[in-house]
Amino acid sequence: MIAFPIDLRSDTVTLPSPAMRAAIAAAPVGDDQFGEDPSMNQLQERVAALLGKEAALWLPSGTMANQIALRVLTRPGDDVIVSRECHAVWHETGGSAANAGVQLTEIGARGIFSVEEFLAARKPQGHLLFPPTTLVEIENTHNRAGGVIFPQEEVERICAAAREHTVASFLDGARLWNVAVASGRALDDLAAPFDLVGVALSKGLGAPGGSLLAGSRDLIVRAVRYRRMFGGAMRQVGLFAAAGLYALDHNIDRLADDHANARLIGTRLAQSARILLDLTTVQTNILVFRLATGAPDAATVVARARERGVLIFAFGPRTVRAVTHLDVTTEQCERAADILVECVEAD
Ligand SMILES: *Cc1c(COP(=O)(O)O)cnc(C)c1O
Repeated sequence: MIAFPIDLRSDTVTLPSPAMRAAIAAAPVGDDQFGEDPSMNQLQERVAALLGKEAALWLPSGTMANQIALRVLTRPGDDVIVSRECHAVWHETGGSAANAGVQLTEIGARGIFSVEEFLAARKPQGHLLFPPTTLVEIENTHNRAGGVIFPQEEVERICAAAREHTVASFLDGARLWNVAVASGRALDDLAAPFDLVGVALSKGLGAPGGSLLAGSRDLIVRAVRYRRMFGGAMRQVGLFAAAGLYALDHNIDRLADDHANARLIGTRLAQSARILLDLTTVQTNILVFRLATGAPDAATVVARARERGVLIFAFGPRTVRAVTHLDVTTEQCERAADILVECVEAD
């Protein structure tokens, strides 16, 4: 018996498991603003070590992590170079402009860009007219491009070129865990080129909330101030930290299952002439596909799928996203793929 609904809208829909809830219930806690929450201190130290950075700071959301990274690394009026259709441009309700006062310059295609494209887009500092480029931001994996991995050799070249031009670097690694599992690279290798790195506990790792920013002690001290300014400084956050610690212990290696399930769905979808899906983009747990001419539009496909118990997300008029995660089984994914194809192929 396959359980419905099969919720492929996002890996954020994952629920804390009974074992994670038990860890939350048992967590020692204290007032985190006095630095007295032992569970949070442990989580922050552990994530800093995992990412090879001096310090890490927990934040209620990944959006706040991204916004604080901008505050720490830029000044109002600065130019920030980002990948096309990145989270900062599409999913933060304009926060970069409102909170940090920066302009975002999108470059590249399909979630990635080259060092040459970065250098061509960079505006020099101290120019009479140009907004100074002071930060480059890379999103890895890239959500809207379909969970693709940014090639690490290019990351290293871009961050080296940035440093040469006193441009800071930030990694939006909300799903960096997926990169590590899919590529076999260590988290600290992936994070090494960057000044600041953000990671999320609330996506595929299955925690109820929380992201962390990691970097040098100096940068994290500054991030602490902005967390307070943004209203994100909380108290007994060890309850969240316990979920995060549990997730790090139990939910990283299993991301390989999510990747295999996404591959399975993608392979099935790509067989339909009405679905445009480049299977080379299905590298982790996200599928973004387009509906060919003649196929129903995204809203219709989403509505039809919902009626049959499969939840997906319209990313554009003819673009759909599906995401695999720890709360969907391989059998559910097989069934969902068949249902999706039927929804697209029905007239
Ligand atoms: C989810 C996500 C974030 C953070 O989102 P929140 O919902 O605020 O936790 C940041 N960047 C990327 C690429 C994401 O997918």
